[in-house]
Amino acid sequence: MNRTFLIKYAEIAIKGKNRRIFEDALVRNIRSVLQSVEGNYIVRKENGRIYVKAEGEADLSGAEKALSRVFGIKAYCPVTLLPDEGFERLSEEVVRLVGETWGKENVTFKVDARRARKNYPLDSMEINAALGETLSTAYPNLRVDVHTPEKLLRVEIREEIAVYSEELPGPGGLPVGTSGNACLLLSGGIDSPVAGYLISKRGVKLSAVYFHAPPYTSERAKQKVVDLAKLISLYAGEIRLHIVNFTDVQLKIYDECPHDELTIIMRRYMMEIAEHFAVEDGCQALITGESIGQVASQTMQSLFCTDEAATLPVFRPLIGFDKQDIIDISERIGTYETSILPFEDCCTIFVAKHPVTKPRLDRIKKSEELLTGKIEELVETAIAGTETMTVTP
Ligand code: ATP
Ligand code: MG
Repeated sequence: MNRTFLIKYAEIAIKGKNRRIFEDALVRNIRSVLQSVEGNYIVRKENGRIYVKAEGEADLSGAEKALSRVFGIKAYCPVTLLPDEGFERLSEEVVRLVGETWGKENVTFKVDARRARKNYPLDSMEINAALGETLSTAYPNLRVDVHTPEKLLRVEIREEIAVYSEELPGPGGLPVGTSGNACLLLSGGIDSPVAGYLISKRGVKLSAVYFHAPPYTSERAKQKVVDLAKLISLYAGEIRLHIVNFTDVQLKIYDECPHDELTIIMRRYMMEIAEHFAVEDGCQALITGESIGQVASQTMQSLFCTDEAATLPVFRPLIGFDKQDIIDISERIGTYETSILPFEDCCTIFVAKHPVTKPRLDRIKKSEELLTGKIEELVETAIAGTETMTVTP
């Protein structure tokens, strides 16, 4: 098995100074995810390429899995690196390498050489032709097809020579840490973990806030959210998770406000409290898992009322997604199984039979006046009593 990976990343939009920031963050994030994989990994950057080299006993499939989750990686390729000892030696090595992999199969192939170093005696066309011929002579079952080959053998001539024919897809996106910070309102549901994943994929570092309502919500419901944060952190890296005891705030709203407006008013308080921790963590935005029309609290009118309670921009990456599309992503990223565990959420406990679906902001604000002088201290207490933990992959 190859012990080196060549990392490919999208190069568009990362010109000039940004490019270095991007590459350095990517190197840092790759090193960080490999720390928990068995083996010693040397990660180095070399003119527009990143190489990851495993040393000693190493769990290479674990390393592949880890790389498949690092945002910013477009593809990663197990490669063989050869010293330049002349073209004849290269041909021999290529014959041996292909022999060890797909040389005995009945497939069409093409050689795609790239010469980053112009002092190499053959140009790319000559390398393609010569290696193509050598390989079809060595393995008569192989046939050159330059248009739609089943196997593509890449040969990159740099200081060393990289030979590879396998390219595995990375998650794409931008390296976490290159686009600022945002704070995810993380519930135990299906949607918010996906929303966090999608924003993190654009290079944003996440914080998270979870509202629970003990004793109405259980310790297991809380653990489920911690578990979800951990699953997200496999992609997003370390996450600061704030667990807010929301019970007294909720009870006060329940006691004072019209019940058909409970959900909206509660969500507005969630925004306010989440914003406190967002600012504390240096975030430039909030994130929720809302999608238009999914439930009463996610109609256009409800979203308008919820939004108004926040001063930071609220990112809702799932706004135009159907539930099934969200489920598909959650299955793919590995949060679905945990999300569907049947534990109660604080939102579902104090819920009205017939919540307003078209709340009016002026009426909501009028109802909130009933809380004046009674809720501020409860909000402060909830913030002061919040449990904060750092969730790592
Ligand atoms: P999810 O699947 O993310 O729980 P949902 O379909 O259950 O979403 P709601 O309960 O209306 O929808 O919540 C909408 C959004 O509000 C969630 O996606 C999440 O961002 C936030 N939210 C809801 N409940 C909580 C909570 N207990 N703690 C933190 N954020 C919450
Ligand atoms: Mg929910």
